[in-house]
Amino acid sequence: MSHTDAFWQVTAIPPEDTPPLAQDLKVDVAVVGAGFTGLRAALDVAEAGTNVAVFEAGDVAQGASGRSGGQVNPMLPCPQPADLRKAVGDTYFERMAHMSLRSADDLFEMIEKYQIQCQARQKGWVRADHCKSAQAVSHRNAKLWNAHGAGFELIDSTQVRDLTGAHGYVSGVVSQRGGAVQPLSLTRGLAKAAISAGAAIHSHSPVTKLERKGTTWHMQVGQHRVQAKTVIIATNGYTDALVGGLKTSVMPLTSVQMSTNVLDEARLGPLLRKGHTISDTRRMIIYCRREPGGQFLFGGMGFRTPLGGAGGFGWMMKDAVARFPILKGATWTHQWSGRIALTPDRVPHLHEPEPGLIAGLGYNGRGGGDVVGDGARNGAAGVGGSPRGFADAHHQDRTLSVPIAASSRGWTGHGMAALSGRTRGAQRTTYGLGRIITGLIRKQYVVLSSQRFVTRVHTA
Ligand SMILES: Cc1cc2nc3c(=O)[nH]c(=O)nc-3n(C[C@H](O)[C@H](O)[C@H](O)COP(=O)(O)OP(=O)(O)OC[C@H]3O[C@@H](n4cnc5c(N)ncnc54)[C@H](O)[C@@H]3O)c2cc1C
Repeated sequence: MSHTDAFWQVTAIPPEDTPPLAQDLKVDVAVVGAGFTGLRAALDVAEAGTNVAVFEAGDVAQGASGRSGGQVNPMLPCPQPADLRKAVGDTYFERMAHMSLRSADDLFEMIEKYQIQCQARQKGWVRADHCKSAQAVSHRNAKLWNAHGAGFELIDSTQVRDLTGAHGYVSGVVSQRGGAVQPLSLTRGLAKAAISAGAAIHSHSPVTKLERKGTTWHMQVGQHRVQAKTVIIATNGYTDALVGGLKTSVMPLTSVQMSTNVLDEARLGPLLRKGHTISDTRRMIIYCRREPGGQFLFGGMGFRTPLGGAGGFGWMMKDAVARFPILKGATWTHQWSGRIALTPDRVPHLHEPEPGLIAGLGYNGRGGGDVVGDGARNGAAGVGGSPRGFADAHHQDRTLSVPIAASSRGWTGHGMAALSGRTRGAQRTTYGLGRIITGLIRKQYVVLSSQRFVTRVHTA
């Protein structure tokens, strides 16, 4: 499935001119990947007056950022505060919780600041509970997050139906801070802002080799050589073998989406009539929104086919009609997919495996709010050669030290655990994929074997 299949291509602002790299280059900061993370990082670095260049294998926004659901959900996918505290430790918990819950407001403020034309609207997010037991958990957790300032409102089944037009939900939680953006426009707008601030962006410029000689990083970018003092890896679900072991630090999953033709008012009227977005509590989560142009978008989890395409649309079409019976007979004009990256602890990871090499990834299907914030901070971290920004949020009094082992097992380092203040030795964390796999198989999303994904943690 090609990028042009994404509905966003229809309504996006035009792309900036980002020519492929045509000569050897020396920069202070090199960024790999032109999605939310890489571009927001580049913007911050450029605004700090530092020389920065972004290298993207395909088009700008070719990864998840230009294919996303564009939902701005102001919350990490950590079920409850205790989970986040367990993942990052007491010292960083408050900062990270604050950053996460503020992320939607921060994003909309940033969009306003740079005047990005991305159909931004902060009209709220409904998370709908699919059964009584999900309701109990979700309402309990909402109250726990409210103690940290989340501002969630609990609503009953009638209110869910009234706000969203969705059937079959027993209750819900609303965040008025949530909202939606046109994700391809947002990413292109970020590229424009970064270029205006002085960043160079080179699309169709894959980074195929990365090695450190002394204090300088040497990169092979297409046919050219690039030298940089600091390299920021912003490749999330598209992470390749560029940095040994990084790829296996996350679990890539395929998320799929589809959009209808322009619906008439009789059909569209009851659907998300006040402009909220909706996602639900099922393990095989769905997420939906309506467009200013009258289309309805429906997304969920899919899978990669043996031929490299994406599957899961058949199930999604049935589910869309089950949830929104009024969609029966609607024409689905666009179908597309992209890769998200899961982490064992459901929080994003920041790694600094070697001096001047920083990787931020593992957004667990979020990004509209959190990733942009993280990207900025990763970028700021890159400037000084020592972690700042994100560091301030998580580990102010600690220098990152997450060595990579040459082992084929992959990444020997688990950012947040390392940051959380655990001391020497190695710990093994079993990725809780069992439940995900069960969910996938139950929903006939086959694909994954019963592999256990193990991340080994070394804190030096
Ligand atoms: C279908 C879908 C729906 C989603 N819905 C939502 C949503 O509603 N709300 C939300 O908050 N989040 C959502 N997400 C998640 C969110 O989009 C991602 O977390 C976010 O976009 C990740 O941004 P990123 O910049 O880190 O990575 P990406 O946008 O994936 O960018 C990584 C880039 O790195 C490039 N790259 C990789 N290797 C190299 C290399 N060696 N050299 C050069 N370039 C390289 C890739 O080409 C890619 O463009 C969704 C994701 C998908 C796929």
